[in-house]
Amino acid sequence: MSEAEQSSTDAPQGRSVLVTGGNRGIGRAIAEAFLAQGDKVAVTTRSGGAPEGALDLRCDVTDPDQVEAAFKAAEEAHGPVEVLVANAGITSDTLLLRMSEDDWDKVISTNLTASFRLAKRAAKGMLRLRRGRIVLISSVVGLLGSPGQVNYAASKAGLVGMARSMARELGSRSITTNVVAPGFITTDMTAELPEEQRAEYASRIPLGRLGAVEDVAQTVTWLAGPGAGYVTGAVIPVDGGLGMGH
Ligand code: NDP
Repeated sequence: MSEAEQSSTDAPQGRSVLVTGGNRGIGRAIAEAFLAQGDKVAVTTRSGGAPEGALDLRCDVTDPDQVEAAFKAAEEAHGPVEVLVANAGITSDTLLLRMSEDDWDKVISTNLTASFRLAKRAAKGMLRLRRGRIVLISSVVGLLGSPGQVNYAASKAGLVGMARSMARELGSRSITTNVVAPGFITTDMTAELPEEQRAEYASRIPLGRLGAVEDVAQTVTWLAGPGAGYVTGAVIPVDGGLGMGH
């Protein structure tokens, strides 16, 4: 086996992982999955409450200084960030003609601009290490579109072009950049929906059910793990088949 093949199949050991938005929902499940496999995990949020065992960092991803400080703290505690999961995201839904510039700006700023900022900062260390995994959490809505989510869909579609350009720039240093596109996932938000509405969503999904946060987390740890060493620039749907064809 060549050296390159060897390095892509070795089991990861205690890597420095940074997950944004890891105090609840999908991000928390992602952070817990990395912790369970023995990685050193830093979680960044505005309100705190990282899972036990993770480094709990306060960081508003829309603020460049706070992002820099979070990376410094993670590096000090765990070493250079080898796996970045840009998961923090927001919605501000309303129909196009009612959507304000502010609705647009805050969603683009949190979901797209912050992901650029995080990936750029992470890539610095990864280029030095000559390895790294960047995973951006998009959404089925990015490619499918969704009424009332012009801003959100644009931000999530933007991640695809960004990831694919980074995959081309960074690939020669064994840094992969991939996008995960979840569909309807059961989180606090969707758990509160009336049963008929959940059933209506499920009826549109080939697998007939909403996804679990663990479904997304398992895909992310796989992309960051040895089995996905030759996967870059990919958009991996975790949507029960909802967005097929995109
Ligand atoms: P939640 O609303 O449950 O959690 C969002 C997370 O992002 C929180 O941890 C929040 O922490 C953090 N966050 C939001 N804004 C900022 C900010 N400015 N700076 C730092 N952290 C921030 O989201 P979900 O778990 O539902 O979704 C996670 C990701 O998955 C998002 O990118 C979302 O778009 C995507 N997604 C979700 C789907 C779903 O069905 N749930 C479907 C498809 C995609 P705090 O408020 O403490 O800062």
